[in-house]
Amino acid sequence: MAGIYVHIPFCKKLCSYCDFYKCVQTTRIPSYIQALHKELDERREYLLNEEVLTIYFGGGTPSLLTPLQIGDLLNHINRLYRVAGDCEITLEANPDDLSASYLRELHEGTSVNRLSIGVQSFNDDDLKLLNRRHNAGDAEACMLNARKAGFNNISMDLIYGLPGMNPASWRQQLEKAFALEIEHLSAYQLTIEEGTGLSRQLKQGMITLPEEEICAEQFFILHEMALAKGFNHYEISNLARDGFISRHNSGYWQQQNYLGAGPSAHSYNGKSRQWNIADVQQYIRALENHVEYAVREELSDVTRYNEYLMVSLRTSTGADLQVINENFGTLFVEQFTRDIQRFVDSGHVVNENGRYYMTPGGWFISDYVLTRLMMEEKQDSLLNIP
Ligand code: SF4
Repeated sequence: MAGIYVHIPFCKKLCSYCDFYKCVQTTRIPSYIQALHKELDERREYLLNEEVLTIYFGGGTPSLLTPLQIGDLLNHINRLYRVAGDCEITLEANPDDLSASYLRELHEGTSVNRLSIGVQSFNDDDLKLLNRRHNAGDAEACMLNARKAGFNNISMDLIYGLPGMNPASWRQQLEKAFALEIEHLSAYQLTIEEGTGLSRQLKQGMITLPEEEICAEQFFILHEMALAKGFNHYEISNLARDGFISRHNSGYWQQQNYLGAGPSAHSYNGKSRQWNIADVQQYIRALENHVEYAVREELSDVTRYNEYLMVSLRTSTGADLQVINENFGTLFVEQFTRDIQRFVDSGHVVNENGRYYMTPGGWFISDYVLTRLMMEEKQDSLLNIP
């Protein structure tokens, strides 16, 4: 069971909160697609002929590619890999790229069967602050057009904790999202990353962020409203109606193997992780000249253990003592049960017969919880791990 991630790093305009790798030279798209073909060819063996259950076009802005270009990449993947008949194929998209004709062509001409739409907000002032290309009207229109085109698995991204946002305005945002009958919602708290437009505005005193208690209230509103609408809150930032969890992202959280193609994309096969150079031009050149474009890290037991906690505790399934025992041994089990007990006592974590999962309150402070659970590399020797 495996997934393929294809990074499309192009954006027409840079959002003020974004620190993903991206570039605005969209004229490079044709040569970039050729380079992607080459990488997918070269790395055919990486997934060891495992069945590919999910394909995900992420970005950047994958909806800057034409349906023809997306179909061409999918045909190429189908020729090289063993793709499951019911493969989940997701395209991340910006609302203003999703015209009725684009959506029709995408649905009729490709096997994309899931859309992840970067709405972020239904408030035009928020969208201006975030420097998004679209407005609230575009966001609603594209949802309706996607339905008309035949898409029946649609996810929407929203951001909370924005400057000026209060619990009542966040409730309104969520009401709008649920009224559009989405199948899946990804809701992220705004984080200010160094080097972004918002970070500069914050330093210059042009914006102020809501207090942490306000953000916590917004997170609990998200949780309660989504549950009341019949959604499962299955991961800190992800909520879905029955049958519509993101299979691709769940693969990451269940530590299934995946191949990531394109600049800055990561790949993982249980033993090692590798990541591609984060530069389109160098990536294209490397593929043309057959030179290395990825860095590889063999994962130690401690790294694998830390990663297991990081991904499993994000989900409602949580971390399992039996899995820790089978994969890492009794010393790790002892350390885990010792370290996590204080969060069970404080009510942030529930222990259900050896399956430990966070409550919504635990999720809200999960960064802190994880720092208390992570093992340091040097502990390898303290634990006498060979
Ligand atoms: S948020 Fe998305 S569209 Fe905006 S700059 Fe980042 S990658 Fe591009």
